[in-house]
Amino acid sequence: MMTSLPLIFDTPRKAMPPRHLADLSPAERRAAVTELGEKPFRADQLSRHYFSRLENDPAAMTDLPAAVRDRLGAALLPPLLTEVRHVETDQGTTRKTLWRLHDGTLVESVLMRYRDRLTVCVSSQAGCGMACPFCATGQGGLNRNLSTAEIVEQVAAAARVAAAGELPGGPVRLSNVVFMGMGEPLANYQRVVASLHRLIDPAPAGLGLSQRSVTVSTVGLVPAIGKLADEGLNVTLAVSLHAPDDELRDTLVPVNTRWKVREVLEAADAYAARTGRRYSIEYAMIRDINDQPWRADLLGTLLSGRLAHVNLIPLNPTPGSKWDASPKPVEQEFVARLSDHGVPVTVRDTRGQEIDGACGQLAALA
Ligand code: SAH
Repeated sequence: MMTSLPLIFDTPRKAMPPRHLADLSPAERRAAVTELGEKPFRADQLSRHYFSRLENDPAAMTDLPAAVRDRLGAALLPPLLTEVRHVETDQGTTRKTLWRLHDGTLVESVLMRYRDRLTVCVSSQAGCGMACPFCATGQGGLNRNLSTAEIVEQVAAAARVAAAGELPGGPVRLSNVVFMGMGEPLANYQRVVASLHRLIDPAPAGLGLSQRSVTVSTVGLVPAIGKLADEGLNVTLAVSLHAPDDELRDTLVPVNTRWKVREVLEAADAYAARTGRRYSIEYAMIRDINDQPWRADLLGTLLSGRLAHVNLIPLNPTPGSKWDASPKPVEQEFVARLSDHGVPVTVRDTRGQEIDGACGQLAALA
């Protein structure tokens, strides 16, 4: 059977949102403000409001003269994300938000409070073109790329909710961002890299998050992993492997027909060598599909000696899917075999399952 290759770098022509401060580097912000007839320092004032104080309402920026904030606000701080609703679970420590974008497109993000950190899982595209058969987002195809600011605003919105004390446990700082929501981040490369700068650049250029607490997860677009290694960033890379052998991975992650397991791991190795950062291998445990002891051994052999650690994800069954999560004893056997090969392995918790907010469940149904 022929596996059709998804559109990778091509995106349907869809209207991108209006320009926003968070799309721009500090130099571009000053240029934009100057073009609007204002002094460049106004750009720094706007940046301090937006990135240091998480303020996105121009009316609240009272250190700017009213006429200036009206003009700059309209030109550089258009509302990009409108909350349709949010749902909570795990005693309020997991919160999924459905956002409507300027053109009616829907995307989701998920906020998860842990004992020691607060993580937001963001979308980088509306829909996804990678067509992984076990993933809810993959079933609808790609709608469009998100703009840099649409990505950053998901993070800023999460940070606002946290700082305002809306989560149980009181006010808290957002610490982690994972690009594990809807979409393939490396298929929206330029905008995702720009958003990484907005997240990690020190305030007021950006939000000042630590690089290692930002994770970019990819199906394994090999040339893009290489490019990311050249950016001089030290963000954490996660690779969605899901199978150690090409025969099975061709079906679970269709882009594998283009870049094979070996090439993907070599690209991740090069990223690790360049950044000194250990990468994650994501592996959804699917009953009787990829969870056999021999596959654990094959994965162990493949990864032993590499600067990688395995994150097993119990499969979240998606509507209409014929697949199920592996039974616990099978999962434990898989963990034991990887450990025997000296490969570090953890099993991800299944946060947000009841609100369809868990890994691979984001489908943005209104
Ligand atoms: N496109 C990126 C981000 C996707 S979501 C990537 O593929 O890495 C993050 C992780 O959730 C990926 O590893 C993805 O394969 C996994 N995932 C998708 N659907 C899932 C499901 N139903 N159950 C468990 N994990 C799933």
